[in-house]
Amino acid sequence: MPDIVIVGAGAAGLAVARRLQSLGVSFVVLEARSRIGGRAFTDTRTLGAPVDLGGHWLHSPALNPLTPLAERYGIRVDRSPGPTRLAIDGRLLSGAELEVADAGIADGFARIAAARDDGAVSELVREGGLFEAAFLAKQGVPPAGCSSIDFARYVWEGDDWPVLDGLGALVARHARSVLVELDTPVTRIAWHSRERVAVETPRGTVEARAVIVTVPTGVLAGDDLRFDPPLPGWKRQAVADLPMGSCNKLSLGLAGNPFGDIAGPVLMADSGRSVEFLLREDGRDVVTMMVNGPFAKDLAAAGAPAMIDYAVGRLSALFGSGIRSALTGRHVLADWDHDPWAVGCYAVARPGAAAARGALARPVEERLFFAGEAVHDRYMGDVHGAYLSGEAAADDAARAIFGRNAAHRS
Ligand SMILES: Cc1cc2nc3c(=O)[nH]c(=O)nc-3n(C[C@H](O)[C@H](O)[C@H](O)COP(=O)(O)OP(=O)(O)OC[C@H]3O[C@@H](n4cnc5c(N)ncnc54)[C@H](O)[C@@H]3O)c2cc1C
Repeated sequence: MPDIVIVGAGAAGLAVARRLQSLGVSFVVLEARSRIGGRAFTDTRTLGAPVDLGGHWLHSPALNPLTPLAERYGIRVDRSPGPTRLAIDGRLLSGAELEVADAGIADGFARIAAARDDGAVSELVREGGLFEAAFLAKQGVPPAGCSSIDFARYVWEGDDWPVLDGLGALVARHARSVLVELDTPVTRIAWHSRERVAVETPRGTVEARAVIVTVPTGVLAGDDLRFDPPLPGWKRQAVADLPMGSCNKLSLGLAGNPFGDIAGPVLMADSGRSVEFLLREDGRDVVTMMVNGPFAKDLAAAGAPAMIDYAVGRLSALFGSGIRSALTGRHVLADWDHDPWAVGCYAVARPGAAAARGALARPVEERLFFAGEAVHDRYMGDVHGAYLSGEAAADDAARAIFGRNAAHRS
């Protein structure tokens, strides 16, 4: 019997595994998908260049524990990315307009940082326009759906560095030594016994002394993974208070360069919607679109042709119709909303629910431990938040099983 079962092999679950390896604690990792990485995954095949389906940027790089790992593994990071261009309704801003828009966005985020009451972010900022587009790009929900205090706690310092070889590739590289049982969705976690938990999958049941659950709150809120007995009310409330936002991605292959000398990120407020483009990063023949918020969910539900149509229409408005003849017809699409193992992009605290992440992080009876981006109280929503939460949960679980000396087992 292993000491610990880890449910999920995303950034958090893999960090748990690495930490338990270093502590000498035995474990089994059960992953529903046919691959590791979860929301941090790099497709290197479809477009002949690395394309991140989920996370791509190292946020707060000076504080980010993945920054030195990229260096260690020789994974390329752009350490001096250019500024994000801004656009409104198909028109790039320039000069004084750009300055006003930049100042408006900075002012909105500064107001949230100064929040004292845990109301909705919409009570502090003017909704609409480029601020809302930027907020949707960060959170995946409109300001009315987000706790001010929770967002104010988020630490976002310095820059955002794109991982040119793929943030998913970095997460996978760091986990090379970890053995994962793929195609093994956990359907039930029975924790009646004080001595052991039984983790059920269609491929059999694994018993252990504790389980560390790293699945997104979208999965915890659904019916595919059940707890027996059910989780206590305070834990279920925490899950309900941390619903998933929406951010879906589409990368299109290009034959040539329809953007002239413009490259890098563009954020656009498009009739109240939030859309970002990443143009020919690293000189590659690829353009990526990210759509954010409720519109992203609706657009992805309409299917790949609708998503491609929207992307091409918006790019044509910005850069002319040359984009149409530059398309190779190849694409990579990531619809996280309708992905049963994610059910959205990242967890956002509802207004008034700033305490939810702390409750989600708290173990249940020293047998059920929780990790993942939703659990971290400063780097929530990010790969490094997931990673750090995994290390912390591993330490907590090892301590619960082996006492204070867990860190010295070998
Ligand atoms: C479009 C998008 C863009 C993003 N951009 C960035 C960015 O630029 N920078 C950044 O830092 N972060 C970004 N993020 C967020 C980041 O990707 C996530 O916060 C992070 O990867 C979450 O890691 P995790 O381990 O908590 O969860 P996950 O990666 O979701 O891992 C959970 C794992 O559990 C598995 N699982 C689910 N249910 C079960 C089950 N029943 N049984 C077994 N396994 C199960 C899943 O398949 C998954 O592998 C982005 C996310 C998205 C979607």
